[in-house]
Amino acid sequence: MTRGGWMGVALAALLAWPGGPSAAQQAADAVSPEAAGAGALALTPEVAAAQEAKAAGRSVKAREWMVAVANPHAAMAGARVLRAGGTAADAMVAVQAVLGLVEPQSSGLGGGAFLLWYDAQAGALTTLDGRETAPMVATPTLFQDEDGAPLGFFEAVVGGLSVGTPGTPALMQAAHERWGRLPWPGLFKDAITLAEDGFDVSPRLAGLVDRDAARLAVHPETARYFLPGGAPLAEGDMLRNPAYADVLRLIGRQGAEAFYTGALAEDIVAAVHGAARPGLLSLRDLEGYAVKERAPVCAPYRGHDVCGMGPPSSGGLTVGQILGLLEGYDLTALGPRSARAWRLIGDASRLAFADRGRYMADSDFVPVPAKGLLAPDYLARRAEALEGDAALRDVAPGMPEFDHAGLWGPGGTLSQPATSHISIVDGYGNALSMTTTIENAFGSRVMVRGMLLNNELTDFSFRTHRDGRPVANAVAPGKRPRSSMAPTIVMRGGAPVLVLGSPGGSRIIGYVAQALIAQLDWGMDVQQAAAMGHLVNRFGTFDIERGTRAEALAAPLADLGYEVEPRAMTSGLHLIALTPDGLRGGADPRREGVALGQ
Ligand code: GLU
Repeated sequence: MTRGGWMGVALAALLAWPGGPSAAQQAADAVSPEAAGAGALALTPEVAAAQEAKAAGRSVKAREWMVAVANPHAAMAGARVLRAGGTAADAMVAVQAVLGLVEPQSSGLGGGAFLLWYDAQAGALTTLDGRETAPMVATPTLFQDEDGAPLGFFEAVVGGLSVGTPGTPALMQAAHERWGRLPWPGLFKDAITLAEDGFDVSPRLAGLVDRDAARLAVHPETARYFLPGGAPLAEGDMLRNPAYADVLRLIGRQGAEAFYTGALAEDIVAAVHGAARPGLLSLRDLEGYAVKERAPVCAPYRGHDVCGMGPPSSGGLTVGQILGLLEGYDLTALGPRSARAWRLIGDASRLAFADRGRYMADSDFVPVPAKGLLAPDYLARRAEALEGDAALRDVAPGMPEFDHAGLWGPGGTLSQPATSHISIVDGYGNALSMTTTIENAFGSRVMVRGMLLNNELTDFSFRTHRDGRPVANAVAPGKRPRSSMAPTIVMRGGAPVLVLGSPGGSRIIGYVAQALIAQLDWGMDVQQAAAMGHLVNRFGTFDIERGTRAEALAAPLADLGYEVEPRAMTSGLHLIALTPDGLRGGADPRREGVALGQ
């Protein structure tokens, strides 16, 4: 792979992207952490064809199986497993192992994930929660200084303090034990080969390393890997990670236990304790980690069931609330270019975010009114606020039906996006939707044996109280930080019709809701939905994706009373539609991934 190869396809993608970024935007994005890495690694003709389709704004078609992920190497590893008769769970293991290598800024064994699974044989949907947990000795003031003031975000992120007990290795194994068909050790083959033989540093990875160089320099192992000889890795550099290959071989041989106990676990704990801001993770935390199987959270929308991840993620509930608030409005008639449609979507989203801030957290630790938040009569009452013609002046949390007396304060957590979404449909009709993360770009920046450890604990509230009330998402031992990840499977008539999700911090919720509306209300296909310029409103300000057609809505929305903020918005939507005519895959042009199918 040459630099020219990456650049050529990147340019083609930008030119063909409907409402694509201007040249100035392209230059600005090249160095931004959310850089539009619309590149391609044309390793096989199959990948080249998929990249071409993406660049031309076309979805990829298949009949039997499909995998849509953020990196071509990872897509190829998944495709190899699916072609060999593996299930979506088998393919996910191969994909995740490769993503941890080629997209180390986003996800990996040192992180956590949520997975939705549609089981074709059982005709049922379930979820696995592989979210990180707070160490058993953590206290609610984990991210406060001696005076009780919250630490600055990056002060808290970089080092050992932010590291939660990783869940991804246990999640991979739990999914494989339940739904896998192919032998476990073989699923790591492609990742081991790539880690040993090397892979080209992608433009997106190079851009992020360059931008983050100061933080990557803090810990010696991290610095040696990302800043060899003191200089940031450059696009096209050949990168090898033999330590990671050894970890994969070990886990392949011995299972995820080899991560959670023994020498590797000891190394992880030592790295966390020896890090810049020493953390609290212990061997006991690692040994005690458990994946939790939970019922999905489903919300009706336009004759579909939109199913997602419940607490500790706010993703499924918040997406469900947004759609529920909009159900009574004819968005189809208004269309995607109507400021009125976006006023409704924006204010529905603000109402949902107000409830999210107050009520949503790890329901194993605090009572969450999950049912009340999605109750149709509650949402219908809340939706009355949308009746006017201008931006809502004030938005406050509602009072959902709740069997607890709850007086929670609003909890704000800042989350900087660096995550990845995996969508897979296998030849048996199973569907998998998994969002996987190490939280911030490069997580805690602490590296152990070629793996970065997460900073997921900074998804907790840094404050324990607000306005004299306790915050639901405060730190507690063993608790899982609230997430925004929204892996989604849309069902119709008991069968899956759409698999999707995205990275993007708390903007994930807006990206996923928009992609659903684009398809269910506006008739867009998966690739159009992935490429469409974003408009996201969480707390009042309307974020509008710079350099896209969405910018045409900036003035009309400002007239309706919003503060509009044009900005880069690097989602990473990966979607698969299951249609009567077969499978259709879409990959976000803002990232480097593809959809591959057969
Ligand atoms: N840590 C975030 C969450 O779980 C995800 C971050 C991202 O999307 O980059 O909500």
